[in-house]
Amino acid sequence: MADVHLKSVRKSYGSVLALSEINIQIPSGDFFTLLGPSGCGKTTLLRAIAGFHAHDSGEIVVNGTDIGRLPAHKRNVGMVFQDYAVFPHVSVRDNVSFGLKERKVPKAEITRRVDEILDKVQLRPFAERMPHALSGGQQQRVGLARALVVQPTLLLMDEPLSNLDAKLRVDLRRELRSVQQSMNMTTVYVTHDQEEALAMSDTVCVMYGGVIQQAAAPWEIYHRPANRFVAAFVGSNNFLPIVDGTVAGVTVPLPADVPAKGAELALRPENLAIVTGTVPDGMVGLPATVDQVAFTGREISVALHLSDGQEVQAICEPDEALLSLPHGSAAQLCFDPAKAQVFEADVTGRRL
Ligand code: ATP
Repeated sequence: MADVHLKSVRKSYGSVLALSEINIQIPSGDFFTLLGPSGCGKTTLLRAIAGFHAHDSGEIVVNGTDIGRLPAHKRNVGMVFQDYAVFPHVSVRDNVSFGLKERKVPKAEITRRVDEILDKVQLRPFAERMPHALSGGQQQRVGLARALVVQPTLLLMDEPLSNLDAKLRVDLRRELRSVQQSMNMTTVYVTHDQEEALAMSDTVCVMYGGVIQQAAAPWEIYHRPANRFVAAFVGSNNFLPIVDGTVAGVTVPLPADVPAKGAELALRPENLAIVTGTVPDGMVGLPATVDQVAFTGREISVALHLSDGQEVQAICEPDEALLSLPHGSAAQLCFDPAKAQVFEADVTGRRL
């Protein structure tokens, strides 16, 4: 059990500021995910916590003690990497035993603890196999077992599922989460896959440019993004510039304080409806032209453009009438103003 508190952590590589004043509090048992595009600083932050490279300033406090200047092997963190990092020439059991042998744990206890952890990651029947005779998903579970068997205070995972195919990734996502929950293990997880982050985490921490944009529960991140970057990176969004209180000539409801630098209306594709008749009560309708309608089984995806030429994507419930809309038809793109959001017009512009 470990709570983690990062205080003003900074790190530069020469003139590149990789982490700028990182302040994070991770409660004990939390599955905490660092999510962001390539180069945003996720790996740098994870490695600073692991002790693989030194941060320039700030504190990494675990259970009340600053571990930020301890060498990696003294931090008692378990680490799982993207490329499995299993030893190829020894069996699964020997791979998992390694850390315990190093710590001179008695033989009988090693056997007991290794069996216990192999049960947990469902690898007990494979204990005597060599890694080359395992699938990618099984090898990654060896990596997880090896990290957990030494009973770390903290588990760190750097894109552990990204080398696996899509189906296996989803299966292993569920398994990882259930092992983490059953051990109540505080976990810091790095991914650039937003769906993975939403599905697995207690807390999602969105990073961009070495700065934390928002750290909150998945629901909050998706439905109440703190700024435009989070609204654009997590899920899809249509951003429509607001000109003199209007979008494509239609007056839209706005919060009181629209800043001088301008604002954009953000509409999630799934919150849009396409109507060929009258705009329903309580909705706002933007006159649009249908460019393409595509049926994907579970939903219908519609590409349209507004009267000023702006392109918009909508995702609608399957409806045969919608499918038969010809290219070039006129329609109203409707939305409930309560589900629309307004952001300051800037990459990281705040939600208004
Ligand atoms: P990815 O998802 O691509 O791994 P990331 O979010 O993990 O990206 P980092 O690897 O932490 O990002 O990199 C953060 C920034 O620091 C980037 O601008 C990167 O180019 C830079 N950087 C990382 N490692 C070094 C290094 N050893 N020397 C110089 N710059 C580096």
